Amino acid sequence: MENVIIIGSGCAGLTAALYTARADLTPLVITGIMPGGLLTTTTIVENYPGFVEGIDGYQLMTNMQKQAERFGARLRTLSRVESVDLSQRPFAVTVDGEKILTKTLIIATGAGHRHLGIESEHLLENKGVTYCATCDGALPMFRNKPLVVVGGGDSACEEALYLTRFASVVYLIHRRGELRASKIMADRTLANPKIQPIWHTEVLEILDVAKDEVTGVRLKNNQTNEETVLDCSGVFIAIGLIPSTQLFKDIITTDDSGYFVLTEGSKTNVPGVFIAGDCADKVYRQAITAAGMGCMAAIDAERFLQDATE
Ligand code: NAP
Repeated sequence: MENVIIIGSGCAGLTAALYTARADLTPLVITGIMPGGLLTTTTIVENYPGFVEGIDGYQLMTNMQKQAERFGARLRTLSRVESVDLSQRPFAVTVDGEKILTKTLIIATGAGHRHLGIESEHLLENKGVTYCATCDGALPMFRNKPLVVVGGGDSACEEALYLTRFASVVYLIHRRGELRASKIMADRTLANPKIQPIWHTEVLEILDVAKDEVTGVRLKNNQTNEETVLDCSGVFIAIGLIPSTQLFKDIITTDDSGYFVLTEGSKTNVPGVFIAGDCADKVYRQAITAAGMGCMAAIDAERFLQDATE
């Protein structure tokens, strides 16, 4: 039987792993299909304290993993949780067909990319439609071509800036007239001569499903209702995140947007189940806040186990 299973291996999960490992709880981390989480798909992280010149996202996550392992954390890489039974303790967690019992559970499942929700987006995914510039931006199909980024937050700005390395021009399509991104990112983005913002505009359709490749986007200005077609070879969608909480639906309380609701610290409505990171945070959503929440969940789990043995 495990002391603690941690589901997720982003900043929150790996920080929880570090703390519970240092408390001699030999945590088992179920990494999910994207070990290291969303940060592994980013380029330079400039706002994680302690790295004067910034640090590559993948490197940061690799460091966190090694640091947790140094103290005894065990990782089940590329494994995913199929189901959980939290109706009694010990809890049962089924991983790749294997049922594992655990005294406590830390859920740090993070969040996934939000989709536009139009049919052509789905049909052209990986055929010119993508959610990750650092993963796909360097592909030959995007080189020296006009590219579109959809969104107005930090992610969209980051994607647009990154794509200027490869694209002939980057159109940043945003549904409002100002960016939601932090000032430093917004200023940097709007100052880049290769980035052309297109304001008050929504993507109606990605063209061309019949050709099985992206040739452009059909747009609508939401102030004038005017429709236009813009030629491009790639569409990078960066319109935010949705929490990965589906597996625990109807067991652990979530709010209307699907984020876990915490009762006190990292605690949930199920005693012995603790939460960390973006799956419970729709406000801050930073690497450092996720790490802080991972630390809180680890301390709460440790105290729960201590109380249970007293
Ligand atoms: P976000 O801040 O939620 O921004 C999402 C953007 O997409 C918003 O501009 C939103 O428009 C737009 N949008 C949402 N749904 C849309 C739809 N259906 N159609 C068209 N546009 C839509 O998400 P994010 O940029 O992914 O950032 C998530 C969090 O990570 C934030 O806290 C951010 O600060 C953080 N982050 C930080 C960094 C960094 O510091 N280096 C990098 C990336 C992300 P509206 O503005 O109109 O709502």
